[in-house]
Amino acid sequence: MLTTMAGNAYDVALENFDSAVDTMGLDNNIREMIKYPERVLTVTVPVRMDDGRIHRFEGYRVQHSMVRGPAKGGIRFHPQVTLDEVKALATWMTWKCAVVNIPFGGAKGGITCDPKHMSPGELERMTRRYTSAILPLIGPERDIPAPDVYTNSQTMAWIMDTYSMTKGYPVPGVVTGKPISLGGSLGRNEATGRGVFYTIQSSCDHLRLPLKGATVVVQGFGNAGSVAAQLLHEAGAKVIAASDSTGCVYNKDGLDIPELIHMKACCGHVKGFPESEAITPSELLALECDILVPAALENAVHVENASCVRAKIVAEAANGPLTPAADRILESKGVFVIPDILCNAGGVTVSYFEWVQDEQHLFWETQDVYNHLEHVMKTAFRDVLKIHLERKVSTRIAANMLGIGRVAEAVLLRGIYP
Ligand code: NAD
Repeated sequence: MLTTMAGNAYDVALENFDSAVDTMGLDNNIREMIKYPERVLTVTVPVRMDDGRIHRFEGYRVQHSMVRGPAKGGIRFHPQVTLDEVKALATWMTWKCAVVNIPFGGAKGGITCDPKHMSPGELERMTRRYTSAILPLIGPERDIPAPDVYTNSQTMAWIMDTYSMTKGYPVPGVVTGKPISLGGSLGRNEATGRGVFYTIQSSCDHLRLPLKGATVVVQGFGNAGSVAAQLLHEAGAKVIAASDSTGCVYNKDGLDIPELIHMKACCGHVKGFPESEAITPSELLALECDILVPAALENAVHVENASCVRAKIVAEAANGPLTPAADRILESKGVFVIPDILCNAGGVTVSYFEWVQDEQHLFWETQDVYNHLEHVMKTAFRDVLKIHLERKVSTRIAANMLGIGRVAEAVLLRGIYP
């Protein structure tokens, strides 16, 4: 559970953009050109529900930038999905792909729905209808969706199939995060959490904080959060608390993470985990720890709870979990923030590897994926850290400066203006 303050993620994305370009002194013309989404599509998704009713869902696909390559970004199924949220997530994807220097621009999609209360049949019909509605935008050479909150490899398989039916042949490269048997990449499922882990390793090296024995709190024990927790646990860190939408569990001596993952897979929740005590979302955020990993949704840490955070490192596995006001508070407390567009970029990086493998019809071993991912993440971390130290700016501004700077350079080189 989150103690979320209602806030508009798109306002946050624009504020972060402005802070970075002000520091960079970027030309006003370029700034206006790259700030806003290139394409925004809202679609009606009619679905026959199991009880015979037709329900109208609203869906979105936003392409923020195609300056550096095809647009890339996940699809979210959640009751709180709004067009502004999708625009924010698409914007962050652009800077994220540029930070890790992969040849993609940013996109995002979503449907406002409550997947937890929908049957597999309803989800499949909704996904296929949404895919038809966004068909004019997607394709391996122009816009490639992937999983995000409450979508998974099955969702991607339905999208791939719906798209392929319109072509008359299989097109695996239209989505990433697919099942392995349909052209997915080994290592994609755990890529985001693994990338989070690599950036935490680099941060610990930079801060001279031993990872072995470090205490960790994970807010949002889903794909990104649980994999990061597993790798941190294997590296000798002690994960003392974790949460999901059902509750928060705490054990000062460390949770048994493999068992917690097993329970989440079997029962769908962390609540009631043996050898743990239940705490509230506010208590979880305020726990004294070395590393806090917000891995749920946007705006989890905000002006009213940021001063309670007692972590040395905040690793943003989620997109936009800190509001700008929270950022300023944590900076004044000396907390080292690994910004989302760096921290969680492992997912899109391995999505890029998957797309490359699909295009080449040549597939890599798991260890090859891990090695390439570690190289990309640690190089990006070094690049961001260099700007942070040399320009004496926050790590978030540094990451944005790196990503925005690469997009601006591409605009200039292509001459994208009349
Ligand atoms: P997921 O659906 O696998 O997991 C989300 C988890 O958050 C679930 O366990 C859910 O119970 C929990 N959650 C939901 N509401 C919550 C609340 N109010 N309080 C606490 N926990 C709550 O999703 P995911 O793919 O792990 O994505 C999580 C975050 O990571 C999102 O911000 C997403 O955009 C970001 N992200 C994911 C990927 C990826 O490849 N999966 C890549 C980059 C960024």
